[in-house]
Amino acid sequence: MDSNFSGPEWNADEWQSAWSINVGKTYKCSECGNVIIVVRGGTGTLEPRCHGKLMESVEGKS
Ligand SMILES: [Zn+2]
Repeated sequence: MDSNFSGPEWNADEWQSAWSINVGKTYKCSECGNVIIVVRGGTGTLEPRCHGKLMESVEGKS
């Protein structure tokens, strides 16, 4: 990893969007095609795994 990483200063809105888990957020496994969808939102980080790999975040089109 980059050791001279100097993070940008985040404002409250950016923090909120970065840490919120939105209903309808979709993740897909590139190995088996398994798809999961968030049905209850929350705050935190969500890093679902399938087949030992991080599932890919799928941008929902609405
Ligand atoms: Zn899988």
